[in-house]
Amino acid sequence: MDQRHWTPCNALTVDVEDYFQVLAMAPYVGRDEWDRWPCRVEASTDRLLEICAEQGVHGTFFTLGWVAERYPRVVRRIVAAGHEIASHGYGHERVWEIGPRAFREDLLRAKGLLEDLGGVPVTGYRAPAFSIGPRTPWAREILLETGHTYSSSVYPIRHDHYGSPNAPRGPHRPDGAGGLLEIPPATLRLFGRNLPAGGGGYFRLAPYRASWAALRWINHAEDRPAVFYIHPWELDPGQPRVPGIDYRTRFRHYINLHRTEERLRRLLRELHWDRIDRVFAPEIAGARDWPSGQVVSAQAL
Ligand SMILES: [Zn+2]
Repeated sequence: MDQRHWTPCNALTVDVEDYFQVLAMAPYVGRDEWDRWPCRVEASTDRLLEICAEQGVHGTFFTLGWVAERYPRVVRRIVAAGHEIASHGYGHERVWEIGPRAFREDLLRAKGLLEDLGGVPVTGYRAPAFSIGPRTPWAREILLETGHTYSSSVYPIRHDHYGSPNAPRGPHRPDGAGGLLEIPPATLRLFGRNLPAGGGGYFRLAPYRASWAALRWINHAEDRPAVFYIHPWELDPGQPRVPGIDYRTRFRHYINLHRTEERLRRLLRELHWDRIDRVFAPEIAGARDWPSGQVVSAQAL
């Protein structure tokens, strides 16, 4: 088959959490205050689901156990619409901060809730704030033991809150065959550095064309699928403002919220998208290596 006619399908991923649970907000909104803030996640996830339906796109929803427990309809709607339900843990705590014992409990609690509500197995996981890396050598083993088959928790960039700049850019098994599969968010290799191209604040901050061009480059020049992520609160310009936050957090959290919805709609329309478990089915099954296994035909997906 002529490879040039094959356009990779990217993975759309959503981290389902509310605006006050973002880790950069943690110094200003205590965990014990979460129940006192107006909930927006149910409505903003519905908005995302509507946009996906309108564009005929499916994705993977890494959902917080805390959200699932309080708003079970969110999980049921995600599953009913044909998306993959996956885990964002229960309490949205950095993995390296809570340690192995609490990590295991957090994983099992989230997985139990999501599987009970969704009625489907949960095998994917994304760590809050991409907090799996050199500081958590035990995390992958615990993910496997608790029934997860892949993680999308290592962002191979330099960032003040997260990032493992030396980690591989593509799907890989850090512990070798039989180990956990890590599927990182998209990066662009430029001037010897990895630049974030996978969504979040960068998608809102940079012009639309920058994100589009980066993902297209990965698809066409590198002939690979990319992983893109977004949060429901990024489509909610009317969310209550958290008072007293520092300039950097305020800028990153609120910039261009009013533009996200239209940008996302365009991105979903202009590129190909699907759930992680389908886009990376060959890697999950161990049937395709990265980056050598670029020989992919449309039938393989
Ligand atoms: Zn998160």
